[in-house]
Amino acid sequence: MRDQIINYSYLIAAVLFMLGLKKLSSPATARNGNRLSMLGMTIAIIATLFKQEIVSFNLIVIGVVTGSVIGAVTAKKVKMTAMPEMVAIFNGFGGGASALVAISVYHRLTPNFESFLLIALLLSVIIGAITFTGSVIAFGKLHGIVSGSPIVYTGQQVVNGMLGIVMVALVVGVFIVPADLKVFYGIFTLALVLGVLFVIPIGGADMPVVISLLNSYSGVAVSMTGFVLNNNALIIVGSMVGAAGLFLTMIMCKAMNRSLANVLFGAFGAVKEGAVAVGSTVTGAVKSYTIEDAFIILENAESLIIVPGYGMAAAHAQHAVRELADLLEGKGVEVRYAIHPVAGRMPGHMNVLLAEADVPYDKLFAMEEINDDFPHTDVALVIGANDVVNPAAKNNPGSPIYGMPVLNVEEAKTVIVLKRSMNPGFAGIENELFLMDNTMMIFGDAKQTLHDIISHLKD
Ligand code: NDP
Repeated sequence: MRDQIINYSYLIAAVLFMLGLKKLSSPATARNGNRLSMLGMTIAIIATLFKQEIVSFNLIVIGVVTGSVIGAVTAKKVKMTAMPEMVAIFNGFGGGASALVAISVYHRLTPNFESFLLIALLLSVIIGAITFTGSVIAFGKLHGIVSGSPIVYTGQQVVNGMLGIVMVALVVGVFIVPADLKVFYGIFTLALVLGVLFVIPIGGADMPVVISLLNSYSGVAVSMTGFVLNNNALIIVGSMVGAAGLFLTMIMCKAMNRSLANVLFGAFGAVKEGAVAVGSTVTGAVKSYTIEDAFIILENAESLIIVPGYGMAAAHAQHAVRELADLLEGKGVEVRYAIHPVAGRMPGHMNVLLAEADVPYDKLFAMEEINDDFPHTDVALVIGANDVVNPAAKNNPGSPIYGMPVLNVEEAKTVIVLKRSMNPGFAGIENELFLMDNTMMIFGDAKQTLHDIISHLKD
């Protein structure tokens, strides 16, 4: 009876997680999605506390209190721009916890394992450990503690491949002598090393994709731990995280028009700054304009599409963007925002920043919703975006970003671009948009430039 109630509670929790995940797909419903998922997690935790296997509550209380305090304090303190690293480290903790639980079960049951249990247990240890160290390195790269450049050396793939073979040999060894602690801990240690080796060759800017993949791994590790502990909630939730993380990874790769293999093994961040795409057709001269020029164009516009990119995040310009939009709307200009799926450096980066500045959701349009509107728009204001507005993705087959869907800003009557220099963006390639006749380049920090335009408008 008790087990039945627990399992029904897990079922309710699982349904709440699914609804929560569904609601997370739109900024307007995301908060409620989070609340539903929190409710599901609370139900799952309470149900678990009624399990008969619990011997003492002391350690559980210490764990819950410590974890809650650390979680609450870090979540309160973290800056919006540091979200990816926080997600990275939390994924790592999830993987590490799965591995530790599996290790404790190993000690409890050794040497009497059924094969299925031993497989689940080893997968939990291996995937959990890889997720832990991989996520710690990803956190370090984003936090600047570990070099953000890809760390590559000759024969890297061969070394990794050989370590993979050693891993397979050790796993076979555990099946032959399950009680051999040296072999078991050899697997754990090697998995920790593989986690580091897996992430160091990947450039810092590709970390969001890696974090999403590690998120998926942490889900698989949790799910395996669910099989080890015979816990349905862990199996369901782990599978959901595994699948959601994998889908997000694929969506990000597709939006960048890159394969997962290219992200994982392509050392993309190693592309030199200023590199020109093969077959680049970029010609012409850059025309630098003044704040006054931009002010006159904006004040006389009837429609404006704002295109934010990584530079808006770097300049912390989201509040200035909102202020400019309010002022222009007050003067009768129709203002909308075009959001590219991989603008910035993490999924939803622009949505999060604009939401922080209280930009109404109904003014944000996904690329496919707004891309056909540029020809009927007076001004496209590009704020620190580069790759996501690069026409080379459409018309230069030699470009590394060829095939990536981009925003058609060049079709607007006038394009105003705010950036500091002619430096390229993440992909390291030139952008012919900046040389086009209808483009006005205004060089300077995006936030400062916006403040200057705002002062003119107020005057
Ligand atoms: P980009 O990286 O292409 O360009 C950003 C531009 O911002 C730079 O050219 C830079 O030019 C400018 N900039 C930087 N700081 C400032 C500042 N303070 N003021 C004004 N401008 C500034 O950004 P996009 O958003 O266009 O594209 C995102 C790129 O990141 C894509 O290539 C995408 O594939 C990649 N990516 C995205 C991920 C995601 O999940 N969103 C994950 C991984 C990669 P300058 O130095 O001259 O100012």
